[in-house]
Amino acid sequence: MDQQATDVQTPSYSFPPVSVPSSLSLKSSELLKSHAVALDKHDPIAHLIAQFEIPASIIYLDGNSLGPLPINAKKAAVDVVEKQWGQDLITSWNKHAWIDLPTTVGDKIAPLIGAEKGQVICCDSISVNLFKLLASALQLNTPERNIVLSQQDNFPTDLYMVEGLQQIVGSDKCRLLTCDADELESVLQENGHEISVLMLTHVNFRSGEIHDMQKLTKLAHEHGVLVIWDLAHSAGAVPVELDNCEVDFAVGCGYKYLNGGPGAPAFIYAAKRHIPKLTQPLTGWMGHANPFTFDPGYAPDVGIKKFLSGTPSVIAMAVLSAALDLFEQVSMSQIREKSVAMTHFYQRLIEQSQTLSELVMASPATSENRGSQLAYRHPQAYALCQALISHGVIADFRAPDILRFGFSPSFLSFEQLFDSVEKLKVIIESEQYKLPEFNRKQAVT
Ligand SMILES: *Cc1c(COP(=O)(O)O)cnc(C)c1O
Repeated sequence: MDQQATDVQTPSYSFPPVSVPSSLSLKSSELLKSHAVALDKHDPIAHLIAQFEIPASIIYLDGNSLGPLPINAKKAAVDVVEKQWGQDLITSWNKHAWIDLPTTVGDKIAPLIGAEKGQVICCDSISVNLFKLLASALQLNTPERNIVLSQQDNFPTDLYMVEGLQQIVGSDKCRLLTCDADELESVLQENGHEISVLMLTHVNFRSGEIHDMQKLTKLAHEHGVLVIWDLAHSAGAVPVELDNCEVDFAVGCGYKYLNGGPGAPAFIYAAKRHIPKLTQPLTGWMGHANPFTFDPGYAPDVGIKKFLSGTPSVIAMAVLSAALDLFEQVSMSQIREKSVAMTHFYQRLIEQSQTLSELVMASPATSENRGSQLAYRHPQAYALCQALISHGVIADFRAPDILRFGFSPSFLSFEQLFDSVEKLKVIIESEQYKLPEFNRKQAVT
């Protein structure tokens, strides 16, 4: 094996030995600080950090909820508003290919989730897209099957959308069944013949636990069950192989790890083998085979565009499109490697501190089994989170008692992780979190 190939295989984020002889006398936190500095120095994707606009005083551990602003996304926003809309007006639908944005943006997302082009379309929100896909999948599978199987602790909107569809079509056509994650396999084995669709979120939004996509998809298929994966906490953070896993359908989010901005449009994936047979209920003109012939009758597009309903949100999509360009400079395995190193490092930072012993890990203990986040239970999680925010460390709180830290590898440094834990220690040691201002509930948590 030549030297270069060996280099490529060396893990980039192995904890470097601290070479100074005096290191034995260093306190463990100083040792961890020097590790952080060394990890940053050897970080092969550190060049991405400068491509974001984040206030210098902020340590942003919430990119899993709302990605920060990429500089080129800001430029794209100005360009689409001032030049394209302002100057070129309606001619921009052709001149700047606004009309193609749902497919061009979908094709930029495709390689991040292991999909060949032509199977991903950017549109609407996850909730709306799930409604479309649930109806499609129920119709594609045999009418004798009516159950949509999901997980009790799935993100609530996913479950709500099944309930809403059930209300319209009746429970003989659509019925929600939920169970715990560890019961999924046995429910599939025992009730598989009644189940039409398995709808799961790949990375759990609270705990960060990852499902084995390949194994569950295969098991579902063995029982004639179609699968919809929600990639809200995977796309842009965890490598996904939709085509290789023979997944049927997926949805994902534009404003989390893809950094597309608040309310950025979501996406739909439908496997090529299914597309010709699929119908969806929100039969708007943009999903028509020829929207500009203005036919009174509906005829769906033959491709993935059949999942469109109304006019695309051009400004938001142009911003998301620019944000996605950042991913052309890195591979998903580089992103994952840094993400794993970050959650592992954070875990160590918290474990080595006596002050933080009341934080109880609510994520899987090993990095293979979790996404790019860590959740800790603490009786005062809400107040701790508010106090952290006042110190410039943005994390989030998830009811009832979870303090959640997200690690977007594209813009965070290891030193910031170290500093954020130091701030958390100060907040707990000084009991600042008991102040009334940190205990008042805000509308969005
Ligand atoms: C963030 C998130 C959503 C958001 O849905 P929208 O309809 O796009 O607001 C849905 N599902 C999961 C699992 C999420 O984490």
